[in-house]
Amino acid sequence: MIFDCRKCGFSFAGTWLQTKMRMAQKAGPEEGRIRMNRIHGTDGGKQPAGALAGQVALVTGGNRGIGKAIAARLAALGAAVAICGRDLNTLKSTANELKAAGSRVHWQRADVANSADVASLVTQSESSLGGISILVNNAGMGLFGPVHEKTEQEWDTLINTNVKSLFLVSRAVIPGMIQRQRGDIINISSLAGKNTFAGGGIYCASKWAVQGLSGCMAEDLRAYNIRVSTVCPGSVATEFSGRGPKDPSKVLTAQDVAHAVAMIATQGPQSFLSEVHLRPVAKP
Ligand code: NDP
Repeated sequence: MIFDCRKCGFSFAGTWLQTKMRMAQKAGPEEGRIRMNRIHGTDGGKQPAGALAGQVALVTGGNRGIGKAIAARLAALGAAVAICGRDLNTLKSTANELKAAGSRVHWQRADVANSADVASLVTQSESSLGGISILVNNAGMGLFGPVHEKTEQEWDTLINTNVKSLFLVSRAVIPGMIQRQRGDIINISSLAGKNTFAGGGIYCASKWAVQGLSGCMAEDLRAYNIRVSTVCPGSVATEFSGRGPKDPSKVLTAQDVAHAVAMIATQGPQSFLSEVHLRPVAKP
């Protein structure tokens, strides 16, 4: 059985899904919407080529899925791009694709929940490409089902991957941004970070934490001309863990998320787009 969350745009599979989804937030579905998908050109891009020339972006989990689309979009806008992940094959192939398109690329195997890996990732990315001006904390995982069926190990793995990683990578990048008095930190959150639903316990906890951490970091850093924002997508067609099959006409594409990230990275210097909610137009 496939279970669709109209609030978050997620689809899930499994026996627990026979429980009817209850949303804790009663706000209307139109609240806070930015209808990104009414903006044309999410594949071709509205931002001018070269808009990010001279900038260096680090995209965690840039080897596949949403992160790969973000890395490609930022590279197409002229940024040099560093990507990381744990899988060497997808890292190499994505790096080769980016290089073939003419981009300066650094790739590195790194577990974003491991502080030694993160320190090495940031040091080597900056020595290879220059100071990081755009950080996209994208790497993440999903794990769904009732909390009482989950193990302590599953909690630790998911929270470390989705939340601790954001703390570790941001902490490593921020001193350089402060020194240069410039930066964008764009955290890929989720509509699950704004809502609650049956079976979403640990994942929602992680994305609510991303929202809270991002908001506080934004306040810590705006005096240094550093913007911290979140992109909150609904269901996106990727290999994201724990997901059931999706109707492609009712989900977002990775390129839609990349478009939102590019929009944030290319906004005017006086502007601070702090949170983007991204939904498929068609309801699940
Ligand atoms: P995928 O499963 O397709 O990709 C996950 C990416 O994260 C991979 O590049 C993976 O690389 C990387 N990653 C996972 N764990 C680690 C780790 N410990 N260290 C380094 N890299 C890691 O998922 P998506 O692309 O769909 O998801 C990307 C982000 O978007 C996540 O934060 C997710 O929560 C969020 N999101 C996704 C939605 C969706 O419907 N797909 C909806 C809303 C938000 P590797 O395996 O090589 O380590």
